[in-house]
Amino acid sequence: MLSLSKYRIEDGKNFRLADHKPDDTAHLEDKKQIAGIIEENISIMAEEQDKLYAQNDYALLIIIQAMDAAGKDSLIKHVMTGLNPQGTLVHSFKQPSSEELDHDFLWRTHKSLPERGRIGIFNRSYYEDVLVVRVHNLLDRHQIPRKLIDGNFWNNRLDQIRNYEYYLVQNGILPVKFFLHLSKEEQKERFLERIDNPSKNWKFSLSDIQERQYWDDYQKVYEDAIRQTSTPHAPWYIIPADKKWFSRLLVSDIIAQKLQSLQLEYPSMTDEQKVGLEKARKILMDEKNNDK
Ligand code: ATP
Ligand code: MG
Repeated sequence: MLSLSKYRIEDGKNFRLADHKPDDTAHLEDKKQIAGIIEENISIMAEEQDKLYAQNDYALLIIIQAMDAAGKDSLIKHVMTGLNPQGTLVHSFKQPSSEELDHDFLWRTHKSLPERGRIGIFNRSYYEDVLVVRVHNLLDRHQIPRKLIDGNFWNNRLDQIRNYEYYLVQNGILPVKFFLHLSKEEQKERFLERIDNPSKNWKFSLSDIQERQYWDDYQKVYEDAIRQTSTPHAPWYIIPADKKWFSRLLVSDIIAQKLQSLQLEYPSMTDEQKVGLEKARKILMDEKNNDK
């Protein structure tokens, strides 16, 4: 298992994106070197998920945020392959509907929180409301009383997120937050690949190129969001994303370690329940004897 402290931000006070390299691979050279490790992590995740489901008290909320083409979709596909689909739910949050805009900003994601015993994955999340909405100044579309939009608006909203995540943790819903940290050069390569490769054309959208013009603004608001919402109970993980094999390794490692840290156990039976099981066994055995 990797040492995760370098990637985990528990106190955002001095956080700077520039201190994190998008092409970092923790001195691992290539994907050959990690053959088998991701599979191992996935089997740990599957084992632990089974216990999480049986125990039915904690829920894991995996949040994935990133610039376009950082690999959110393929990460979800690869890392989640071994999990039981019954216990996992993925939600993708796109531009809000007019119904969603008529509510407070946490409404639509709150409705989609994982039930106890489940692993919920948010492909984008309520963080969009301090990222894209901030970069493009989209508050006009929201029905927020104008008087409430003052110079502290974004700091207040980030405070609300921090408090909300504390509330989640205190209710047994545990956020695990990933920022896939991609370099601007690698994004360009991936866009070109989407243009050049016919099987990837469908992934390309002209609006991605427009968003790329706002790269620096996005980096700034991401940095501020991570700075203000990294806490010991809901840390951000900065995942170097230029090498997809490394981001998959790291994310699978973090989720496996997180689940293991909960020391999950299958529920044990009470004496009364054990008597019930013995009774059931007897009924089944008698059935067999009568059949003979
Ligand atoms: P992909 O491009 O890989 O299919 P995606 O997550 O980028 O996945 P898109 O449909 O391209 O999906 O984009 C969704 C868009 O919705 C993003 O540009 C995102 O910023 C935007 N969005 C998400 N939440 C909000 C929000 N609360 N307010 C405004 N825009 C939002
Ligand atoms: Mg997109």
